[in-house]
Amino acid sequence: MSSVPDDPPRPDTAAGPVVQLDLRQPHRHLVRVTLHFTPRCLRPELRLPAWTPGSYLIRDHVRHLEALEVHQGETPVAVSRTSEACWQLALTSLAPLVAIYRLQATELSVRTCHLSADHGFLALAGVVLQVSQERWRPHRLELRLPETWQPFVPLPSAGENAWIANDFDRLIDSPVEAGPHPCHRFSVAGVPHRWVTWGADLPADDPLWLADVERVALACCRLMGEPAPASNDYLFVLHLLAEAYGGLEHDHSTVLQFGRRALAAPGGRRKLLQLVAHEYLHQWNVRRLKPAELTPIDYDRVTIVPGLWFAEGVTSYLDLLLPLAAGVGTEAELLEDLGADLSRYLLTPGRRVQGLRQSAEEAWVKLYRQDASSADSQISYYLKGAVVALVLDLHLRRQGSCLALVLRGLWRSHGAWGRGYRNQDLIDAFAGQSPDLAELLPHWLVSTDDPDLAGYLADVGLALAQKPALEPFLGWQLEDATDRPMQLKRVHRDGPAERACLQAGDELLALDGVRLRRPDDLALALSHTMALAEREVLYCRDGRVRSTGLRPDPPSPLSWQLVIDPLLASDQTGRNRQRWLSLLP
Ligand SMILES: [Zn+2]
Repeated sequence: MSSVPDDPPRPDTAAGPVVQLDLRQPHRHLVRVTLHFTPRCLRPELRLPAWTPGSYLIRDHVRHLEALEVHQGETPVAVSRTSEACWQLALTSLAPLVAIYRLQATELSVRTCHLSADHGFLALAGVVLQVSQERWRPHRLELRLPETWQPFVPLPSAGENAWIANDFDRLIDSPVEAGPHPCHRFSVAGVPHRWVTWGADLPADDPLWLADVERVALACCRLMGEPAPASNDYLFVLHLLAEAYGGLEHDHSTVLQFGRRALAAPGGRRKLLQLVAHEYLHQWNVRRLKPAELTPIDYDRVTIVPGLWFAEGVTSYLDLLLPLAAGVGTEAELLEDLGADLSRYLLTPGRRVQGLRQSAEEAWVKLYRQDASSADSQISYYLKGAVVALVLDLHLRRQGSCLALVLRGLWRSHGAWGRGYRNQDLIDAFAGQSPDLAELLPHWLVSTDDPDLAGYLADVGLALAQKPALEPFLGWQLEDATDRPMQLKRVHRDGPAERACLQAGDELLALDGVRLRRPDDLALALSHTMALAEREVLYCRDGRVRSTGLRPDPPSPLSWQLVIDPLLASDQTGRNRQRWLSLLP
């Protein structure tokens, strides 16, 4: 057995498994895992989840696992692998067992594991083997850390560097952050909260930060019609990195990643507050008010969840409005951010190919696996879900109701009771507030046509203003990197570049005989011309230089902005807008 001299004594596993994670050699990026348990049959199975809940992609976490061995006392146990992430043990007695293995922790995201000299982050779905017949028993977690590190774990404490989870699901839903980070404590409606940042100390650098987070958190409670958050002890973990964006929701915590440069940029702090609002609202929407298909979660395989449009789309729409409702944002900022989302939606041709429900059902194979043609073939259920949520909110307001009332109703009928919802339950909840939605909503969920955005926005005195392009449309998009050759990142379906037989990955060399080295060169070659005459493009593909004739299309809109339309100004639209912005009926 590969024991080390200072292994802790063998724990009592009568109540359930004990998971010991050793992070004391962070520079090796290896987590040593020791799993103690008492088997309840002679052929128990050990399996590692294939995905991290909240992020709908099979990640095969098992690729990071190595050197698994299982012992019963001093005797090695025969282990046979029955699938890529499952092992079956052959026992002759039910005496306690210990499984020991290592995990390579080098993938820095909110859903994976990262251990380095200055911190450790573990998404436990990628760490802890599930023991058959033990899922619903308590799991004890113990950490062994470098001397100067503190642990941050959203679980009830069970002694120094030890915690107890009611069952395997609660354990997997508890991200582990550890490092020499300061911990900031505050409360929301009397409920204790902690904020921990790796990569800087945000609350120290921004003294108003925690007060603003508290106001956003209280706005989430008000939206849900609840006096306090759903969690009784909540942890925020922020990884502040050079470049990053993302978050993952948990019952009692969230892990956020954000870019330092983005945070310093205009509007960056606001974007981070929106991310806070988004993940905090998930305490209800998707974590406790959850799709029936995820009740309980199948960790081993893909689960189709048609209601993701509601879980993520509605949350994405509300995260824009919540800071304003909390009093930490302005109407102008909200219009700018919502306008940017609507613009992004209108600039995505894939919305004509994939419906909203289809986008949710195909999450596993499309949204998380983007390629050069994604914008032409799919639409994010976050983005279109937010657009449909806006339309639903404004539609309900015509009937004297609003989206918040539907959300609260579903919380009371399903979430608060631990009942999962089906897609039809969502439709019924909307139709309960506005009967015509029994037909309209199913249509909006499958249709690839745009909803009547202009009509609904007019109710609140708003309109979308087009920003026209100053150049003809070429139908291509260049790679963002400035240190690489001018490579095509995307060629628009049915656009001029596609007609000229160009494809993603082609390297542009010259336009009409003028050498192109940087994006500036291209902008210069195209500037001040609206001519639609054919242009000669010299390019390189697979090491061979080729040329083609490219005939541009007329300019198409560059973007849209959401503006208060003076032609729609009236007392009524003004009152409608103020009510809508308050998020309440
Ligand atoms: Zn989300």
